[in-house]
Formats: sequence, structure tokens, C-alpha cells
Amino acid sequence: MKNIAVIGAGTMGNGIAHVFAQNNYSVSLIDVKEESLNRGVATITKNLDRMVAKEKIDEAKKNQTLANITTYTDMAAGVKEADLVVEAATENVDLKLKIFSQLDAVCPEKTILSSNTSSISITKIAAATKRPDKVIGMHFMNPVPIMKLVEIIRGYATSNATTEAVVSMSQNLGKVPVECNDYPGFIANRILMPMINEAIISLHEGVAGVAEIDTIMKLGMAHPMGPLQLADFIGLDVCLSILNVLHDGLGNPKYAPCPLLVNMVMAGKLGAKSGEGFYDYSEGPKNAKVAGSFV
Ligand code: NAD
Repeated sequence: MKNIAVIGAGTMGNGIAHVFAQNNYSVSLIDVKEESLNRGVATITKNLDRMVAKEKIDEAKKNQTLANITTYTDMAAGVKEADLVVEAATENVDLKLKIFSQLDAVCPEKTILSSNTSSISITKIAAATKRPDKVIGMHFMNPVPIMKLVEIIRGYATSNATTEAVVSMSQNLGKVPVECNDYPGFIANRILMPMINEAIISLHEGVAGVAEIDTIMKLGMAHPMGPLQLADFIGLDVCLSILNVLHDGLGNPKYAPCPLLVNMVMAGKLGAKSGEGFYDYSEGPKNAKVAGSFV
């Protein structure tokens, strides 16, 4: 596999394009918005500059990596030679079904179609195509150039050949692929989100404050970041939506999102990206302060 197409140039898409390009793959980076493509390439350039400054790569490697990326707003043009597509567009089920049905129509027969979705069923996405055996989840973690894990999600019809190809491709990127089956939340979010939800429930019930909960989990469990701060960085709307997927898909009340989380999302307190969640980010992420008493 030499030619990779990445759909979506946002937070994840530009990181995925960066990692493939740095490992000598030819990458088509595709987005519906020209400005997202420009922002994506600017982010990749900034991250490569940082690597040059830290002497992890030299200037020639940076230039070669950038030369390996071509941007497109026309999906059909960008995927016409793709061996593998990694879809990292906005997390919306109808949008993903539409993208996969279009990809199936315009990609060569050999192309493996993968999705970086955090929570949408791979089996459902695969059913929008006529090649469900060649559809798989490749769940990269944020920030992609740094995080080693790729959660590989096998849909109901994903073939062994597709899984083996994607596992070996992930290893070529210097990542550690780990396989799991296609059930709500896969593994990473099925375990992470209930922990975040329990932290919010503990806060809501007045067991402890924001700083105390985060400090207990950081110092006690050696987590680099407390669960409430992590929720702010993931986005409280994203956390709520994944908890709803777990609750709806597994039908167990233990996954019910905390009413405080629901209220905060309705109030537009979405975490770092909106300037406030459990912490106030008005003076930048490094100077975040606890945002309120949360009763
Ligand atoms: P984002 O909002 O930063 O970027 C999404 C991009 O998709 C935007 O640039 C948008 O213009 C583009 N897009 C929308 N419709 C498109 C279309 N039809 N064709 C091409 N591009 C289109 O989102 P993100 O945070 O990068 O998330 C992307 C995917 O990765 C989602 O499925 C999300 O669940 C998953 N994910 C996100 C994270 C994270 O931490 N952000 C982690 C793991 C997985």
C-alpha cells in the first residue's frame, strides 16, 4: 500500500495525514472546506517545525513530508488511486453513511475503507457500502503524531485479509495496533467514558470538588491528567454523545450520563474549546482555574 487518502483535515485528519506522510506514503488530504485544508497543512507544518527544533527530524525530512501531501476538495479526485482511505470527518452518523456510500462508488475495487470514528458502529458504516469485508475501524488517538495506540475495530463482516493489512500498515507507522470487536464505545471509550461520568457524578453529589477529584486520580492512579480536565479537553459534548451511544447501545443504566454533564452541554459549557467547562480557560489552558462550585 502506497497511496493513502484522508477524509477530513480537522484535529484528527491532519495528524493522520502527517504520520502517513512522514512514513513515506503518498497522502491525499481531502476536506469539503478549503480553509480546513489550509489550517490542517499549517498545523502539520508547525508540528514538523517543532520536531526540527527538537532535532527529531531534519529540514529535508520536513520538506519531504510536506511534499508527500496533496490537498483536494473534490473527494473523487483525491481517492482515485487510494489503497487505503482513513475517514476522519465530523462525528455524525448520517454524514459518515453518505461519505462511505460515495467512497464505495468512486474508489477502486481494491481500496480498504477505514473510519476513525470514536463511537459510530463500523458494521453500520460498512452496510452503506457494497464491500463490507473491506471496511474497518482505525481509531487513532489525539494527538496522532505522539500517541502510539491505534484501536483496530473489526466490523461484523470485516475480513481477516483487511484486518491483517491494516494491522501491518499501523505497525509501519510506528504505532501499536490493538484489535477489538465492534460493540458500542469499542474498548477505549467504553472504559474511559464511564470513569469520566463517575467523576462528574461524584462532583454533582458533592463528594469532592473539581481540583480534589482530579488530584486524587492524578496522584493516586498516575494519570497524566484528571478525568474532569480530560473531559474538558475531549469536549463535554463529545463525552455526552459517546455516553449516549453506550447507554442506547448496551441498554444498561450504569452508562446514563450524569444530569450535570447534560446541563453543562445545554448551557454551552463544552470545555476548553468553548472557554469553560469544569475549568475556566480565559487565561489559556496552562492557567486554567476551577470554573465554579457545580451544585
Ligand atoms: P474536526 O471537527 O476537528 O474535523 C472534522 C473535519 O471534517 C472538518 O475539517 C470538516 O470540514 C470535515 N468534513 C466534514 N464533512 C466532510 C466531508 N463530507 N468530506 C470531507 N471532509 C468533511 O473533528 P475531529 O476531532 O478531527 O474528529 C474527526 C473524527 O475523529 C470523528 O469521527 C471523531 O469521533 C474522531 N476522533 C476524534 C478524536 C479527538 O480527540 N478529536 C479522537 C479520536 C477520534
